[in-house]
Amino acid sequence: MAIPVLGETRPALCHRDGRVTATFVYKDVPFRDGLGVVNDVLVGACDVCGDAIIIPAQSTPKVSEARRSVD
Ligand SMILES: [Zn+2]
Repeated sequence: MAIPVLGETRPALCHRDGRVTATFVYKDVPFRDGLGVVNDVLVGACDVCGDAIIIPAQSTPKVSEARRSVD
């Protein structure tokens, strides 16, 4: 899969809305368990509800780093 860039849109599946388009934006993404947040990470956000539904591979190091600072 090609590396997404800011503003790119892509078809995706949202856990709430089903088939949607997602737009890649920089967002603060809270962890599902509520323990901490990843600041300014590039994610694909659902165009309907705004949830981060795609975490691109290039963003995962930032996510694990933020996770470590919480533990
Ligand atoms: Zn959605």
